[in-house]
Formats: sequence, structure tokens, C-alpha cells
Amino acid sequence: MSASIIDGRASAARLRKRVAERVSELAKFNVVPGLAVVLVGEDPASQIYVSNKTKQAAEAGIRHFDHRLPASTTTADLRSLIRQLNSQPDVHGILVQLPLPKHVDAQSVLAEIDPIKDADGFHAINVGRLVLGEEATVPCTPLGCLILLRETQPQLAGLRALVIGRSNIVGKPMAHLLLQSDCTVTIAHSRTRDLPALCGQADIVVAAIGRPRAVSGDWLKPGALVIDVGINRIDAGEGKTKVVGDVDFESAVQRAAAITPVPGGVGPMTIACLLMNTVNAAVRSLREPSVPRLMPTT
Ligand code: NAD
Repeated sequence: MSASIIDGRASAARLRKRVAERVSELAKFNVVPGLAVVLVGEDPASQIYVSNKTKQAAEAGIRHFDHRLPASTTTADLRSLIRQLNSQPDVHGILVQLPLPKHVDAQSVLAEIDPIKDADGFHAINVGRLVLGEEATVPCTPLGCLILLRETQPQLAGLRALVIGRSNIVGKPMAHLLLQSDCTVTIAHSRTRDLPALCGQADIVVAAIGRPRAVSGDWLKPGALVIDVGINRIDAGEGKTKVVGDVDFESAVQRAAAITPVPGGVGPMTIACLLMNTVNAAVRSLREPSVPRLMPTT
């Protein structure tokens, strides 16, 4: 058996198209969705992520406000900037690129964001709402994973899902989204015993570990759906590097029913979901029943 490959680039392009359509509808009410992006320091990976986010925002018709600050920026400076952005009516979404420099108290900076403008869904209010099953802004990467899963398997109810990783930005929100989809959810982490046995029971495996090819294909239940969140840069010989996921793709593709590739799987969905969250914040600020929020599945 060879798995079908879940095309995250195509799915993200469809979502960005729906975002752009909603942006056009908002224009009729003189609302242009605005995203403020805060980047602190010179981390090369963060700089690439931020420029991809602002480029795709602009392509969808979302205005972006860039705040690039030196690595020496203090927690107080950042909180003051966030308060200013909270009060700016043309800013609907605020994104603080993580990681922040070590001397900054990231939690207190994220807590300063108005939950309505919390484009990444990291604020405790949104986390709490997600856990309670209330309307919430959901973190972009797990939301993207859920969209890919639903497009691949519309009937998730009753399936056994294994989420590997318990971070606040991927693993924990992913587990809650799967629980809301009526899956039977297990969360594995660095202290979990016998991960291969847990994998062997799972109809869905979401790997968010940050270790190259940590999940071997022969651990998987035949016919499993596999979502690989990992982005790991490894040595490819001759002075070159390449990006691989947390799942050993070559062996997993022999056993799974469907699998996301790395790159080209979850990664593109993350930015598309950020744009969706920003447009939905602008929709909420308009309070116009004829312009509804974009839902992950419509
Ligand atoms: P993290 O380091 O915060 O969390 C990793 C988790 O993996 C931890 O909860 C840890 O307990 C668990 N873990 C570590 N070793 C393990 C092991 N041997 N067995 C089982 N569990 C183990 O990482 P994160 O921020 O959640 O990111 C995970 C991966 O996803 C990284 O590769 C990151 O680059 C990638 N990522 C991708 C996107 C995207 O857009 N595609 C977005 C965010 C993160």
C-alpha cells in the first residue's frame, strides 16, 4: 500500500482564496482587515516566517503593520506597544513572533494582547474558550492540521487519535480540537512509555515533536492518517541541508492511508489560518450579520 499524499499547498491556496473573498466583502463596509506583526531581534528563521506572513497577508488584501524591534527591547516596551496596538482601530489582529529573546517575559507580553485581536490564539482567554468548547481564536498550526484531516476524512467521530507533543502552540490545542471532533484522544510526550504501541492503536497520528524522523513507519496502524507537523533542518551531505518532518516519510508512506509531506503539508496551512483568524477578527469588529465568520470547513 502507498499512502495518498495530503497536499497542504493546494488546501492552503483554497483557504487563502476564501480569505481574499471575505476581504472583498468587508471592503463594501469600508473595513480593511489589519494585522500587526511584532518581531524582536534578528533570528533568521523568524525573519523568514514574518516576511512570508506579511507577503501572503498583502496578497489576500490584508493590511499589515510591521514592528521590527531590536533584541534589546524590554518586556515593558513590548507591553506598551501591545497596548497601543490594542487601541488602534485599523489593527484587527496582533501577532508577536515567537520565540522572544530570553530576557523578555513572553507570557506577560501575550497576556497583554486584547483576546479579540489575538491572531495566534495564544491568549489564556482563547485557550480557555477552546477547552470549554466555546467560540475561540484557535492557534494556527493545529487549526491547519484539523482542516487537512477533515478534508481527508470527513467522519472523525470515534476515531482513535494520538497527538505526539504537548506544547502550548501545537500539541495541547490539537488534542482539544480532536476531542471536539469526537475523537478518542491520547497525548504522548517525552516521558511517554512505549510510543510504538500507542502509534499502533491510532487511526490518526499527529506528530509535533521537533525530532527528525522520530516516528517510524512500522509503528503505524495500517491505514492510519498521519499529520506531520515537524520542521527539522538536517545535514544532506556535500555542505547542503534539507528539511524533514518528525515522521520517517519513506517508511510511513508504505503503511498509512494518507500522510502530509514535509515540506508542503502543514506549513502552508499555518499562514493561511493566520489570515483566516485575522479576517474573522475584522468580521467580528464589523458586527454585520450578512458577513459571517469564515469557518474551517465551509
Ligand atoms: P516543542 O519543543 O515546544 O514541543 C515538543 C514536544 O514533543 C514536547 O511536548 C515534548 O514532550 C515532545 N517530545 C519530545 N521528545 C519526545 C519523544 N522522544 N517522544 C514523544 N514526545 C516527545 O515543539 P513545538 O513548538 O510543539 O513544535 C514541534 C515541531 O513542530 C517542531 O519541529 C516545530 O518546528 C514544528 N512546528 C511546525 C509548525 C508549522 O507551521 N508546520 C508550527 C509550529 C511548530
